[in-house]
Amino acid sequence: MEWIAAKTVAEALAHAGPGARYVGGGLSLSLLSERGVERPQRLIDLSALPLRSIEGRQGELRIGAMVRLAALGQEPLVQTIAPLLRQVVAQIATPAIRNQATVGGELLERPRCPLFRDATNPRCAKRLPGSGCAVLEEAHAAGAIFGTSAACIAASASELAVALGALSAQVTLLSPEGLAERSLPILDLYVEPGQTPEREQALTPGELLTSVTVPVSSQRRFGYARIADSPLLPLASAAVMMELRDQQVVEARVILGGLATRPWRARACEQALRGHRVSDALVELAVARVLDGAKPRPDSRHLPALATQVVRAALRHAVEEHATVRR
Ligand SMILES: Cc1cc2nc3c(=O)[nH]c(=O)nc-3n(C[C@H](O)[C@H](O)[C@H](O)COP(=O)(O)OP(=O)(O)OC[C@H]3O[C@@H](n4cnc5c(N)ncnc54)[C@H](O)[C@@H]3O)c2cc1C
Ligand code: SF4
Repeated sequence: MEWIAAKTVAEALAHAGPGARYVGGGLSLSLLSERGVERPQRLIDLSALPLRSIEGRQGELRIGAMVRLAALGQEPLVQTIAPLLRQVVAQIATPAIRNQATVGGELLERPRCPLFRDATNPRCAKRLPGSGCAVLEEAHAAGAIFGTSAACIAASASELAVALGALSAQVTLLSPEGLAERSLPILDLYVEPGQTPEREQALTPGELLTSVTVPVSSQRRFGYARIADSPLLPLASAAVMMELRDQQVVEARVILGGLATRPWRARACEQALRGHRVSDALVELAVARVLDGAKPRPDSRHLPALATQVVRAALRHAVEEHATVRR
């Protein structure tokens, strides 16, 4: 395996190509390589690149892709401008993992499916296109209930993406093709499996994630909740945003994690919130719409209850934040 310690962004991009992978903190890549799930031929280390700054400017927060999660959580600007981010980052994994993991690597973490992460399983269309799906064939209890297909039901992993989705963040990507730069809403970075589960993100070959931009607004209230049976990887998480004017919800975002093949926008729930006066009753009206579009399987009947529970908790946090700000 070839190891390239890129000194500039241009050098990193020049080495991209078939079999090459970028290395952020390397946590996920090393784990999957040890298990034989990933077999990169060339690793492009990004740690010397100038993608480590966090800047607040012109009504937005710009976060470099190589910022470590621990540094993101400790940055005073983040606490002032986007406290939700700090709250979410503090709950991801362990302090040791947060010291190593990068923003880019966390956002592009591979899915959770245990049979994807088990290289001895021969039936995983995500790893081996066209090989079927052991989870579906064996009615395994793992999987998502939103955004699934007949080919794959693996839940996406990134908690940070859920929070950044509620914050309406954008990601900036740089392509090796002519060094073209583009920005897209963070939720558009992720794609549903459909018939091509091997494709998880909307990245073009060799595209490098360089930064994340979070817009700032004083009118917005946020809430986050997660349900975990261990301190690691939550079973479900939800981040919500409510923009309020005169007690009315004028805009809302409700994003679910852990239960969907991509960070999932609960649009019916958002619709139920818009145009109404904020109250406990409104929270319950919205919660009643969380499962619109869900596709639970007989072996995952416990998951819908988790979805409603986690969204209810996140919405209540946002309502509490609103009440605190008004006092
Ligand atoms: C024990 C354990 C517990 C965990 N608990 C949680 C949890 O509670 N919540 C949670 O959300 N996550 C959790 N995780 C996942 C963890 O957050 C990720 O493994 C970690 O963030 C990966 O970051 P990294 O920088 O090491 O990624 P890397 O391994 O460096 O990269 C991951 C992927 O992204 C690609 N990549 C990296 N940077 C870029 C870039 N700039 N542009 C393009 N591609 C890039 C790599 O090629 C690779 O495919 C846990 C992981 C472990 C091992
Ligand atoms: S759910 Fe997806 S990732 Fe998991 S085994 Fe099936 S095809 Fe592979």
